[in-house]
Amino acid sequence: MTTLLTENSPCSELPGSELPGRASTGTGPTGDPRQGRVAPLLPVVGGDLPAPLVDGRSVRYANLDYAASAPALRAVADHVAEALPYYSSVHRGAGFASQVSTRLYESARRTVADFVGARDDDVVVFTRNTTDALNLLASAVPSGGDVIFLDVEHHANLLPWRALPHRCITASHTLAGTVERLADALRERPAALVAVTGSSNVTGEILPVARIAAIAHAHGARVVVDAAQLAPHRRIDIEALGIDYLAFSGHKVYAPFGTGVLVGRRDWLDAAPAYLAGGGAVREVGEVDTEWAPAPQRHEGGTPNVLGAAALAAACRTIAALPEGALEAHEAQLRARLLRGLAGLRGVRVLQIWPDSSERIGVVAFTVAGHDSGRLAAYLSAEHGIGVRDGRFCAHPLLAKLGHGHGDGAVRASLGVGSSSQDVDRLVAALAELLEHGESWNYAVDAGRWAPCPDPRPTADWLTGRAPEATDGASPCIPQP
Ligand code: PMP
Repeated sequence: MTTLLTENSPCSELPGSELPGRASTGTGPTGDPRQGRVAPLLPVVGGDLPAPLVDGRSVRYANLDYAASAPALRAVADHVAEALPYYSSVHRGAGFASQVSTRLYESARRTVADFVGARDDDVVVFTRNTTDALNLLASAVPSGGDVIFLDVEHHANLLPWRALPHRCITASHTLAGTVERLADALRERPAALVAVTGSSNVTGEILPVARIAAIAHAHGARVVVDAAQLAPHRRIDIEALGIDYLAFSGHKVYAPFGTGVLVGRRDWLDAAPAYLAGGGAVREVGEVDTEWAPAPQRHEGGTPNVLGAAALAAACRTIAALPEGALEAHEAQLRARLLRGLAGLRGVRVLQIWPDSSERIGVVAFTVAGHDSGRLAAYLSAEHGIGVRDGRFCAHPLLAKLGHGHGDGAVRASLGVGSSSQDVDRLVAALAELLEHGESWNYAVDAGRWAPCPDPRPTADWLTGRAPEATDGASPCIPQP
């Protein structure tokens, strides 16, 4: 028999039913017996992290910020620990550890290629993250055509193209109309590339990338999909979807070790100037002339991030091994529960771009009438140990379109494989408490961000190796009403 966790229960009381891979039925903290419980799908490192509260208590950290950076899968951390003793130089070392590291690195490329259904002649370039991957592609777009993108994009899939000849298409009030606008733009004038997000990092809405790719190809353009948000939530098959290039980040697919990827067609990448000129990117260097290596090495100058690549491959393997539909079902249950909970709260508005978008990932942005989103996020953390993101999510044009200008953002709760119904219920309960009773603490803006005032929560001094700073007990912050 499992004991239900109450709001703010200490992490030591994490009940067995919340352990990965097990689900049980029961009454959630919202008290709705129809809801049942949803356990994490996979174990993550830090899933039982204690978070200090301003009142001196400590609760299990409810991580609802997966869309920004997801925790490492346990399987990823284990693989990195296993690979670490073999860490050595890659490609140019004759030693045993160098050979193991080289095999790790190059086999990671194949694993990533398989994970996204790459074609045999596609190239996998390891980058730092999605931003890096899209900037790399921007440096490889041949001259003579422009890049088309929508105004709903994350800055990473917007700013690199602005440096090239481009057309930014205003999304229409329907998704169908928006796709039609892309088609119109291509009909009007051919483009080299259409850059589109797989899923919005603000609303979680999924775009019909296969349809967009078909339209682009019919007009002679290529398509790149920014899969930073899609890759952690949906199986992607580049070949089946007809995508030319795909970019995503390791840290959002549970491999936070500093690696991302650009996967796609070889010709542009082989013809482009080396993205990062230096050792490893060349075949021969003369006094004046340089013979550059083909992709991927051409764009991976310097010492590569072997462990980052190995971590990403481990994440791909672990996600790929999940039963068909498990990822989607887990997320759909939690998302529906969150939306049900939010719908029951006065003044909560969930952000959405299009009324006709049918598919979403577990990313939900919302506002609460009369409550500043930054202050709300600070409250959730300080009084409830809940981590969310607030602001404009590096998508300023989209937020402006949705009615949120400078200094007026939203709160985003995002789910992943380590999320449980308990996390969702805690968020809903914390918002309900705020609406009913208000905050129990004071808050002030500190260095541009809302923070508890005073903030007595202990900082993790062991992280910096420094002794805690002495305070005279006086708080410099001035509470704001
Ligand atoms: N695109 C989207 C849709 C994203 O959500 C993000 C990260 N928030 C990025 C691109 C950029 O990813 P990264 O910071 O890993 O480069």
